[in-house]
Amino acid sequence: KKIAVAIDGPAGAGKSSISKVVAKQLGYLYIDTGAMYRSVTWAVLHDDIDPTDQAAVETILPTLELTMEPGNDACKVFVRGQEVTGFIRTPQVNNAVSEVASHKGVRQYLVERQRLLADEGGVILDGRDIGSVVLPDAELKIYLTASVKARAKRRWLEVQGTPNEQSLDEITKNVERRDEMDKNREESPLVCVDDAVVIDSSDMTFDETVNRILQLVQE
Ligand code: C5P
Repeated sequence: KKIAVAIDGPAGAGKSSISKVVAKQLGYLYIDTGAMYRSVTWAVLHDDIDPTDQAAVETILPTLELTMEPGNDACKVFVRGQEVTGFIRTPQVNNAVSEVASHKGVRQYLVERQRLLADEGGVILDGRDIGSVVLPDAELKIYLTASVKARAKRRWLEVQGTPNEQSLDEITKNVERRDEMDKNREESPLVCVDDAVVIDSSDMTFDETVNRILQLVQE
């Protein structure tokens, strides 16, 4: 039986790279909800809107025509017909996304879309509020975490040699700041729900983490 899998956890825990591989192995649909918050943030910055201005941010939502093409590989995102997948992982978006994601209207807009995309079963969604808000009835909930040090180091390795390169120090600060904001916001904060299986991947390899999750899906 194909199930719904919710994977939540802090920034840089490896949720998207792990989910992508797990989805591929299972033939499930992978939905990267962080990419949706990032796409809205890209549009906010592109339209020269102050990310802290809740009313202004919420006003552009109906103009975004945000769509996502999920797959069993990376998710493609589009804003007003333009593919923005390549523009949503810049330091600028990293720095503004948690602010944009804290606005109630933004969350309502995206949660509704996420539920529609997830309608079928055989899906993996990763984010911050999947097990708590988006899919509270998911058959399997995972809270994937790791130490700040391990998460920042992985992010740093990922962006080496790309246009998004930053120092380990800058990345560590961004990860800590996003954790802080995501955990302490009023709307759907990042929490580890009671029925989630906690996986701390600080001392696990990529493959070990993938296999642990595959095992849980098959249980
Ligand atoms: O997962 P990723 O790191 O790409 O998410 C970027 C940001 O989007 C997070 O730091 C968080 O502020 C926000 N987010 C969220 N709820 C989700 C997914 C992401 O608030 N379900």
